[in-house]
Amino acid sequence: MDNYIVSARKYRPTTFQSVVGQKSLTTTLKNAIQNNKLAHAYLFCGPRGVGKTTCARIFAKTINCLNPRPDGEACNECESCQSFNENRSYNIYELDAASNNGVDEMRSLTEQVRIPPQIGRYKVYIIDEVHMLSNAAFNAFLKTLEEPPHHAIFILATTEKHKIIPTILSRCQIYDFSRISINDIVENLEHIAQSENVSCEKEALNMIAQKADGGMRDALSIFDQVVSFSEGNVTYQAVIENLNVLDYDYYFRLTETILAGNVPESLVIFNEILRKGFDGQQIVNGLADFFRDVMVCKDPQTIVLFEAGEAVKNKYLHWAQQCSNEFLYKALEWSNEADLNYRYSKNKRLLVELLLIRLCQFNHQSAPIDDKKKIKPVVLPATPTSTPTPTVNQEVPKAQVISKDNLRISINKKSLGNDSPEIPKTEVVPDTIQEERFLPEDLERAWCEYAENEEDTHLKYTVLNVVPRLQDDNRIQIAVFNPDQQKKLQEKASTIKSFLTQRLKNARIQLDILVTEDKKEYIPYGGRDIFEYMAEKNLAIVSLAKEFNLKLD
Ligand SMILES: [Zn+2]
Repeated sequence: MDNYIVSARKYRPTTFQSVVGQKSLTTTLKNAIQNNKLAHAYLFCGPRGVGKTTCARIFAKTINCLNPRPDGEACNECESCQSFNENRSYNIYELDAASNNGVDEMRSLTEQVRIPPQIGRYKVYIIDEVHMLSNAAFNAFLKTLEEPPHHAIFILATTEKHKIIPTILSRCQIYDFSRISINDIVENLEHIAQSENVSCEKEALNMIAQKADGGMRDALSIFDQVVSFSEGNVTYQAVIENLNVLDYDYYFRLTETILAGNVPESLVIFNEILRKGFDGQQIVNGLADFFRDVMVCKDPQTIVLFEAGEAVKNKYLHWAQQCSNEFLYKALEWSNEADLNYRYSKNKRLLVELLLIRLCQFNHQSAPIDDKKKIKPVVLPATPTSTPTPTVNQEVPKAQVISKDNLRISINKKSLGNDSPEIPKTEVVPDTIQEERFLPEDLERAWCEYAENEEDTHLKYTVLNVVPRLQDDNRIQIAVFNPDQQKKLQEKASTIKSFLTQRLKNARIQLDILVTEDKKEYIPYGGRDIFEYMAEKNLAIVSLAKEFNLKLD
């Protein structure tokens, strides 16, 4: 343990055979070398840390090997191989385009390319992150790529293939590296742990592999971190502590209470998780991932989409039997919704709690759902502050008109599959007009709350992007950025108004939706609008449009 070398370096593969998780690709490369069918330029694409540079180096070494083995691998013994393995070969040249992306670097490279190798047959130029090259550098390089000297081979590597210009793409043989599967990563980590005499729990390695998201390099660096943190005893507990991952046991517990419809218990567990230092969004996303994994475990066709070791898989299979598809689809939809709303929510804790309550209620009601559907309106646990009906309205104290129960009603209606309107809507049409005073903060809160409930995403962001301004006579001024937004909002104005009326307990609210006068804030929208906006900045646009006879829709 004392002189522990970082695994990524120590265990870097030195043969095609030992590259993890890219079998078909390495076989193709090996065959090309054996059959002497080498191209002058290769493009290696794929996510970070999956072996692109490693393969490029092995490739360079193998084509220069003096005694290649019958199976197409380098001998790792000859002078050339040794110089490669000791990083002193002159036949390999690596350029990191992320930091050397200028035309000067490229010129000095293209000059070097002309000089043939002293020993060995090929000089290999590896350009990493090639998409980062500047345009000028790209052009300088293109000439060399078009007429490369016989001894030069280029290996371009990129994580972003779509950024490579077609003139380069068409001159390269393209190899797509894939993410490495969890099983492959775990297997490799097990092998390393054995050679390093590190004891490991399988679930721990599984969690590391999951976190590495298909990249071997990341997996190795996490592994190293946990090894030193846990002093050579890599347990599941050590991994989740080190990575700040939520123990999936919590998801099992939450699901159990949700399936039992036990709201209080689910809130208590949620609180427990918060106190461990996790934030609400992590929990929402974790739950969503969990439900997704359970869902794919339900069907033999999709179970391949769940990558995990046997022990973990069995646990998920258990939950797959417990959860109905109907529940899982809803759970996914709602957690996704909560995730989207999270950023804008003023009361993030309540947002997650509402999600849990919804989930609990879904299961509580799903069994006798048909019976309940007949009894309309939705049955609620009778509480002293139950919903007022319009007829008894006068007797109901104002403060109770918009109680949390109303909110719960709308949730209930939804979970029963009724087509209730998207916004919690109470049928309060008071005879005595409510007119409570409210503050700009109250208005802003109600405004955001409306946005959170708005199902039209386009409209939702419009609403979130404007700040309602309260005038002194209960008028609310809403300054939007363009006529299109104005129209959209006006169409929804009555819904918004009745929502605000309920939330702010004030029936005298008026909405003024106008387009902002402030040109700085103005955002052009739609073809004609953008055109006029641009024309205002630069008249040449108008002549351009005339010249080419361009028409606007
Ligand atoms: Zn050799």
